[in-house]
Amino acid sequence: MKEKIITVIGSLNFDIIFKQQRLAVMGETYSADNMTITSGGKGANQAVQCAKLGATTYLVGSVGRDVLGDQLLQDLADYGVNTDYVTRVDATTGVGVVNALEDGALMATISKGANYAMTTERIDEIESLLKRSSIVILQLEIPIEVVEYCIYKAHSLDCFVILNAAPAAAVSANALAKVNCLVVNESEATFYCGELIDDLESALKCGRELYDKTGELLIITLGKNGSVLFDAASHDHVKAMEVESIETTGAGDSFIGAFACQLLDRKEIAAAAGYATRAAAITVTKIGGQPAMPTLRELEMSVP
Ligand code: ADP
Repeated sequence: MKEKIITVIGSLNFDIIFKQQRLAVMGETYSADNMTITSGGKGANQAVQCAKLGATTYLVGSVGRDVLGDQLLQDLADYGVNTDYVTRVDATTGVGVVNALEDGALMATISKGANYAMTTERIDEIESLLKRSSIVILQLEIPIEVVEYCIYKAHSLDCFVILNAAPAAAVSANALAKVNCLVVNESEATFYCGELIDDLESALKCGRELYDKTGELLIITLGKNGSVLFDAASHDHVKAMEVESIETTGAGDSFIGAFACQLLDRKEIAAAAGYATRAAAITVTKIGGQPAMPTLRELEMSVP
């Protein structure tokens, strides 16, 4: 029996964000202007955005038996994410180091750590949760075979499956075909399309081809240029909000979490994309991923 539940299956990372003018060159030690430490990981971020917007949200993942894991679990609980299905394993908690440059460019390096302790057996263990979940959200910061196994399982249990195919990696065509909604940013779209996607024109050109590989809906997010949505018949460009962007960590995660919340409330795709665009715009006006994501109240107060 389906309930109004979003289940996110994915990564939890401890993020260290350096705001810096430029990257260090080989052999150089470069001083960042400032550093922020925050809970992150695409899975955790998307779950936090869902929970902050009021959805009943479960996160399925793994952290180590270390203080970083304690911190991540505490933060998730504080944001209202159900962590009953986050296991503690004998590996170090995932860590992400983000270089946020002056011109808005972001670069990140993540450790595999505990996130790679996720197995297909874990997906079998959560079958009862999947049976109750209306929406399942996945990303690619856990082993691909686990993601693919989960796509098949969630699909067979009648869940609406959202795949944020990030970071870009090869996903089997069979698994992709079972995804209801595929979400990628420009650099991931470039990987999957095999051509540079860096503006609306190039996204429109390649998006249709990518759409044909997946289920019902494709979203390519384009940073400050908004996003473009493809369904079987048409496409729609949703402009980004004009805001003063401070730091864009978690923009895509905020977009996906908010979008899923609207689908859970049975809103139309266009309305859901507009809502997600507003949520992500708030997220980029503050430093950090999870702390910057809007609550339901903040989002409602932002309506122009
Ligand atoms: P990711 O974080 O996955 O790289 P994007 O950078 O494409 O994702 O951003 C996701 C969404 O966040 C965009 O579709 C847009 O709605 C919003 N967004 C990102 N950057 C900005 C910005 N500078 N100003 C306003 N909105 C933004």
